[in-house]
Amino acid sequence: MVNGYKPSSLQEALEIRAAKDVVPYAGGTDLMVENRQGVSYLFLSKIPELKEIRLDDEYVRIGAAVTFTQALESSLIPPLMKEAVSRIAAPAIRNAGTFGGNIGNGSAKADSVLIHFVADAKVRLVSLRGERIVDIGQFYKGRKALDLASDELIAEVLLPRTGLENYYYKKVGGRNALAISRVSFAGLIVMDGDVIRHIAAAFGAVSGTVLRMRDLEKMFEGKTLAEAKACKDEILSLYASRMELTRGRVSAEYRKAVCMNLLKDFLEEKGIS
Ligand SMILES: Cc1cc2nc3c(=O)[nH]c(=O)nc-3n(C[C@H](O)[C@H](O)[C@H](O)COP(=O)(O)OP(=O)(O)OC[C@H]3O[C@@H](n4cnc5c(N)ncnc54)[C@H](O)[C@@H]3O)c2cc1C
Repeated sequence: MVNGYKPSSLQEALEIRAAKDVVPYAGGTDLMVENRQGVSYLFLSKIPELKEIRLDDEYVRIGAAVTFTQALESSLIPPLMKEAVSRIAAPAIRNAGTFGGNIGNGSAKADSVLIHFVADAKVRLVSLRGERIVDIGQFYKGRKALDLASDELIAEVLLPRTGLENYYYKKVGGRNALAISRVSFAGLIVMDGDVIRHIAAAFGAVSGTVLRMRDLEKMFEGKTLAEAKACKDEILSLYASRMELTRGRVSAEYRKAVCMNLLKDFLEEKGIS
């Protein structure tokens, strides 16, 4: 028997969150597995404000209770995010699982979170005290550790509208379908003619949080493709020397080799060969 509160507005939800000891519950696909006893839940799936996908000038704003199926059916969600979401589990999980839950679970294996990291998305947090907008990289403090106060809810994730077109994405699982990521990788590149204006490379499922090395990405920026090719080996060896990966179902060495291969493949596909 699952106990809890079923608010019908965000205001009502925030009042309950502030006054009671409750666990936010969106699709329940992670919480059902945890099967916590004696817990009171705050059900979020009927709150219209959390179920919208909207555009503003800069961002695609994805409500925390938007399901993966809803995202796949929306013309507002960029192809990179759709590709990552389409690889999540099976339709039944995608019908219930939400963007807020994927973030709120605090796992570095979360497939939509990898895309938020590579795209420098932001998370909008709300409480009766007001709202905060936090960079996704700051929101994750470590494995299962989030910058979320006990009276706050995740309201939206703000995914930049530009810079996501020229991408590379791979999810390596134990099998082709229904696999939780063993290693996942997303890369982005923005060119200005022959000059690299922006590059981002994010590794999922290999560390306490999604891994990015921004200082190494910046070493490519402002360079022509020819200049980037000339310093590629040096940058790759810096990645290799700094990549300290956790052991999962597979060894850290295996994960590191896969990460380096994916990074090289991304660079080669984008003309830095
Ligand atoms: C069989 C199976 C396969 C799976 N495969 C994948 C996969 O391939 N890729 C993947 O990424 N995930 C996978 N998952 C994990 C899960 O489906 C996702 O993490 C999903 O996004 C969780 O969303 P939810 O709405 O069900 O979260 P819930 O279970 O409702 O909540 C998850 C956590 O987030 C918190 N939370 C939820 N909403 C909010 C909010 N608005 N504010 C604050 N905290 C909040 C909850 O308190 C809880 O701690 C799988 C799960 C199962 C059971």
